[in-house]
Amino acid sequence: MAAPPFPSDAHIGALPPHFWSAVLQRNNRFDGIFWYGVSTTGIYCRPSCPSRRPRPDRVRFFGTCEEAEAAGFRACLRCRPRAAGDPAAADVVAVCRRLAAAVAEGVEAADLSVAAVAAGQGLSDTTLHRRFRAVLGCTPAQFVESLRLTALRDRLRAGESIAEATYGAGFGSASRVYERSGAHLGMTPGAYARGGAGERIGVVVVPTPLGALLVAGTETGLCAVRLGDDAGALRADLAAEFPAAEVVEAEAAVQDWAAALAAYVAGERPWPRLPVDVRGTAFQRRVWEALREIPPGATITYRDLACRIGKPTAQRAVARAVASNPVALAVPCHRVVPAAGGTGGYRWGPERKARLLAGEAEAVTEDA
Ligand SMILES: [Zn+2]
Repeated sequence: MAAPPFPSDAHIGALPPHFWSAVLQRNNRFDGIFWYGVSTTGIYCRPSCPSRRPRPDRVRFFGTCEEAEAAGFRACLRCRPRAAGDPAAADVVAVCRRLAAAVAEGVEAADLSVAAVAAGQGLSDTTLHRRFRAVLGCTPAQFVESLRLTALRDRLRAGESIAEATYGAGFGSASRVYERSGAHLGMTPGAYARGGAGERIGVVVVPTPLGALLVAGTETGLCAVRLGDDAGALRADLAAEFPAAEVVEAEAAVQDWAAALAAYVAGERPWPRLPVDVRGTAFQRRVWEALREIPPGATITYRDLACRIGKPTAQRAVARAVASNPVALAVPCHRVVPAAGGTGGYRWGPERKARLLAGEAEAVTEDA
């Protein structure tokens, strides 16, 4: 799947990743926020246009109608993109552009005052927050955070070192990035609160020797991996948990991840280290990342895991973080066992945990 073009579109700066989803959903909340042009037709539209959805690689995003027209696109006769938008949305757009410009310049978080930007737009901080929530479904701070993470990812992809990319994206220090995103560890939080409008989650349920395996992911990585007896119930639970997201049948990447996990569960291939896109506190993410360092065939106690992340007295918090792992198998929380012996509890059933551990021990013995 081609990466959507918008994060680095020079006309509009970085945009939230859910803009493409807004087009797919014909989401009228985004009318007045951005416009899209289709290269094959030369026409530009508002997000809610009823016309057929374009292919993502044919789309360019614009922050104003003027920009679209300057780029040679004509206004669509069906959706009339020039018709006046919601003034509240226009304020949000103006603030988004100021924030995007500041982030593009690498202004550090500490030096970027959302309140000052709001005042520049003639709005109080409270009004701005309310409008952001209404129009974009996030706070200004979350918007800025998503811009920074996008900038960080783009810089890393462009070959910058972690230090360069970190400062360039305005994070100030590498430890800030670690706290906020863990991006250099291969784990990023969802750019917005999970369940927020516009997020697109691909899902598939595959049969395994341990029962039904639900695998769900965004384009960045896995966001839910669960085991159960009933595929329908697993799907229903997922949909309930992400009420505002667009839950669709998984495309190629998520299908591949599901196949890798299913083959691993069946003992047909080693444990796969897959990308994950999970939301959690900095503490939870440290625990989850530490779990990914425990090799298959090995186990760790809660106490040792607490020491491993430098919090030897935080065993209870560590246990809670382990229990709240949203991506079973991909973050191998089944490798945590009680110090007293035995395999201990497991959200998906102690029987499944015992079989996973036995399978991993056997695979390691075969390799030796
Ligand atoms: Zn249109």
